[in-house]
Amino acid sequence: MEGKITILPQKSVIKASPSFRLHFPPCDRRFGSLRSTAVAATITILGSGSAGNCAFIETPRLRLLIDAGFSGKQIAMRLASIGRKLEEVSAVLLTHEHHDHTQGLPVLCKRYEIPVYANRLTAEAVQEEMPELKQWRVFQTGHAFELGDVLVESFTVPHDAHDPVGFLLRHECGNVGVLTDLGHCTRLVLERVRPANVLMLETNHDPRMLQDASRPWSLKQRILSRFGHLSNEAAAEVVTQLASGGLRHIFLGHLSRECNRPELAHRAVTAALHNADARHVRVHVTSQDAPNPTLHVGAAPDAPAQSCGAVGGFDSLPEARRSPNIAVAEQSTATVRNKTAVA
Ligand SMILES: [Zn+2]
Ligand SMILES: [Zn+2]
Repeated sequence: MEGKITILPQKSVIKASPSFRLHFPPCDRRFGSLRSTAVAATITILGSGSAGNCAFIETPRLRLLIDAGFSGKQIAMRLASIGRKLEEVSAVLLTHEHHDHTQGLPVLCKRYEIPVYANRLTAEAVQEEMPELKQWRVFQTGHAFELGDVLVESFTVPHDAHDPVGFLLRHECGNVGVLTDLGHCTRLVLERVRPANVLMLETNHDPRMLQDASRPWSLKQRILSRFGHLSNEAAAEVVTQLASGGLRHIFLGHLSRECNRPELAHRAVTAALHNADARHVRVHVTSQDAPNPTLHVGAAPDAPAQSCGAVGGFDSLPEARRSPNIAVAEQSTATVRNKTAVA
């Protein structure tokens, strides 16, 4: 492939450890001290659905986009709604090459020179479509690497792309798992994402709605296949397997606009949590039309001391069941609303 490619130094995969600490990499202008007053992390799902996916994670040393599946203009507008700019973004981390995860890359890379982190096959597949992209940082699936103060672990997921991955992002405030675009959940995937305190999880479709939809049979087959997308029920099974760990928040994502409804996805997952006696886990449904309220993870003196509003009538998190290093507040702004009605 053409373009500037940097192969990232590999680190051995680090297993879950409650006393895990990160050491900071050499200073880079994009990974400097962005906010020196607090050790904290925030997560904002800028949008998620079959037509676009993009999330924003901020720590004291990193402002990271996970996927760039909206236009550059849309991503800029959604960042602006939480007081951030594309100029401030340190990097983009790609799960795979599908259009609903990459369409904003030309603007992000050309106009803002934001480096893109992807494995080789994903980078090559994207560059075939977007040959103008030059700022590649190639990682090897299964190896860990550092971005600012975050350790990024990647793992293979079964999906009909060249080399699709999920992520576990480790930060001293907590771990964030990214698990979207997969046809089924393997034992490997479960083990890799198990340390997550916050999980972005695909709830793509309701099987009955998909069967009834006026779509070509070949497309239905693709979605339902073991390399397609997770149904609400399959996601509920994943949640059942993970509920006993340190999981505290789940963002349900990648909902099909035509073949799912937010309340169906929410109901399936909350029922699984109730059955697993894990009512402390908060469930948030994302939308591709608007960002979710920002979730604060960790002790942040400058964060508003609000507790999370319940989503869909879900119980609030009991104090005694919170992880010691997860303090949660949600920041609502005038322009950011938890809009779950459309997906
Ligand atoms: Zn995909
Ligand atoms: Zn997708």
